[in-house]
Amino acid sequence: MKKLLKLTAIILALVFAAAMLAGCGQQAPAEEGTPSEEAAPSEEAAPSEDAAPSSDAASTVDSVKAKGKLTMLTNAAFAPFEYLDTEGNVAGVDVEVAQAIADELGVELEVVDMDFDGIPAAVQSGKGDLGIAGMSINEERKKTVDFSDPYVNTTICIVVKEENTEITSSDDLSGKTVGVQLGTTSDLFSSDLEGVEVARYKTSPDAIAELLNGKIDAVIVDEMPANDAVKANEGLKILDEPLTTEQYAIAMPKGTDLAEVVNKVISQLMADGKIDELVEKHMALAAEAA
Ligand code: GLN
Repeated sequence: MKKLLKLTAIILALVFAAAMLAGCGQQAPAEEGTPSEEAAPSEEAAPSEDAAPSSDAASTVDSVKAKGKLTMLTNAAFAPFEYLDTEGNVAGVDVEVAQAIADELGVELEVVDMDFDGIPAAVQSGKGDLGIAGMSINEERKKTVDFSDPYVNTTICIVVKEENTEITSSDDLSGKTVGVQLGTTSDLFSSDLEGVEVARYKTSPDAIAELLNGKIDAVIVDEMPANDAVKANEGLKILDEPLTTEQYAIAMPKGTDLAEVVNKVISQLMADGKIDELVEKHMALAAEAA
């Protein structure tokens, strides 16, 4: 059995590597939780006995059931994961994942749209129960929240105007202005690039608008939202260079027993290939709503 698991892991890793090599600009399949250095080992996501919640307000299974609702914190400007649908409601892959968790707990789902960079602190202080926002696992955030098991493997990439022949890779960004969403992994990545001026926006669609206006030279953003932006706006292209390896996971209050329920739902959705289906479905719906 162990051997089989190991073999499966290796095969998944190869498939994931192939998807990464295929690069930005291609429809990236969300492979099942493949091993990567960034991956949150399941021990870390699981509730641990000695990690007591650092706030009385941090959510637990009992507190969510007592309230009768699960509050998801997100930033609805990240299609296909979260966006405003034609009626102005928050929709997307993450909303459906959250709904599945709420169903498992037998409670209603409430979605709160807020600034992305405030989500980890808001989760830990109990302003909401879970942060579900296409959020990549990273060390900095792990200081504030626990992450669930990952549910999407992805990368970030560069978007430029279609006619741009000057910028063909990240090596060409020196001396240029790059737009990013504040507090994201793209912000972190760009801030480390030498000679690059980073322009930070509240959302990546704001950055894309400035790129279209000619105010900035490029935007760095997650691959699937980049695909969405290119679909929704004429005159943009994505460079075929994956810049990072990242995994999306759900941010939870430290030590919460919600981890067990969240990881159970994630593993069911992954096993059924449901996440890939949801990405495809919401790429199409987000394009209609744009
Ligand atoms: N995945 C990126 C991050 O975690 C961006 C997420 C987002 O903008 N919603 O930083």
